[in-house]
Amino acid sequence: MTTRNDCLQRDAGDPLSGLRERFDLPAGVIYLDGNSLGARPKSALTRAQHVIAQEWGHDLIRSWNTAGWFDLPKRLGNRLAPLIGGAPDEVVVTDTTSLNLFKALAAALHMQADEPSGAGRRVIVTERSNFPTDIYMAKGLSSWLDRGYVVKLVDSVEELPAAIGADTAVVMLTHVNYRTGYQHDMRAASALAHAAGALIIWDLAHSAGAVPLDLNGDGADLAVGCTYKYLNGGPGAPAFIWVPRRHQARFTQPLSGWWGHAAPFAMAPDFAPVDGIGRALCGTQPVVSLAMVESGLEVFEQTSMAAIREKSLALTDLFIELVEQRCADHPLGLVTPRQHARRGSQVSFTHPHGYAVMAALIARGVIGDYREPAIMRFGFTPLYTSYTEVWDAVEILRDILDRKDYDVDAKRDAVT
Ligand SMILES: *Cc1c(COP(=O)(O)O)cnc(C)c1O
Repeated sequence: MTTRNDCLQRDAGDPLSGLRERFDLPAGVIYLDGNSLGARPKSALTRAQHVIAQEWGHDLIRSWNTAGWFDLPKRLGNRLAPLIGGAPDEVVVTDTTSLNLFKALAAALHMQADEPSGAGRRVIVTERSNFPTDIYMAKGLSSWLDRGYVVKLVDSVEELPAAIGADTAVVMLTHVNYRTGYQHDMRAASALAHAAGALIIWDLAHSAGAVPLDLNGDGADLAVGCTYKYLNGGPGAPAFIWVPRRHQARFTQPLSGWWGHAAPFAMAPDFAPVDGIGRALCGTQPVVSLAMVESGLEVFEQTSMAAIREKSLALTDLFIELVEQRCADHPLGLVTPRQHARRGSQVSFTHPHGYAVMAALIARGVIGDYREPAIMRFGFTPLYTSYTEVWDAVEILRDILDRKDYDVDAKRDAVT
């Protein structure tokens, strides 16, 4: 049986423990929701002050050049690329994940329509369990195009091989499921899509900064993801889009704003996309918010995704073990895969009163979140979560469950 002392010892020997210092976390909180909104890097505050007071306040419009504002989406993309297995000049940080997915999907459909072997393909395959915005964007684009595109939803990974065929234009998968923490085999699924002549788009919202990724090595075609989750870029921070070199010349997208133009300041009435990743951009970006993304990325340069993954698996293993031992008398159901290769950096348990139990946890300083149906979600961020915190969180959960110290009529917040 693991004891709290064992956890203290593991923290003492943890090579990542020093990185917690780089984050500002309130006292009395065990933060297990970095999968939804990452914690604040301390440097974000000084960076924000500098951007607002100096770059904006003092240098004014000159900062587009002197402070590198105009290049920020590409500069941040280049800093993010190593975390996802992208090469230089293959990533930009811009817009939202939903918008980037729209661009990626539109570009992929267009690439297929341009191919003799792809022209008749009208199906976008994805999972019913995908994050809703991904399905909404795919359905919205399909019906708006009004050319017979349809979105086919599969109910399990096992159904994917049969669902992908000669009519499939694009397979669109979220690499780590937001609800269950299930992690796809990127290489196998990409090969499956390619064998059928389809393109594959990966959503890395719950993967980037959480698990090692090798987009180029695994044969992905396009990818998008969030920076405000595991990458700690701040609330509503711009997302990213990855377009590999091999597809850039054929990548065109309908949000053809002036930031994607070959010569934006020529102010020509005709659109001509710039060569390279810049064509994934649309318009003027939120500079203050973009700058915060850099504070998040800097922390990752102090370690490696391999080290982060090793601790992530140790933390999630420990949480599963302790919940199953200490809360064994309660109706908790593990929905996250036990198999390491299939697990992201979160653990989800069902409980018939999941919402109420989570509300009670949050009231006692253990911040996770709740997702329908009946799922309590706990995210583990190795940069700032300790083994002892995992022990303490389970102890508070056990106490709440043993004493039934939760309100089954807890009122739902607008954002859960
Ligand atoms: C969090 C998340 C999003 C969020 O999209 P926004 O456009 O940033 O609101 C999209 N897709 C997935 C899979 C997510 O987990």
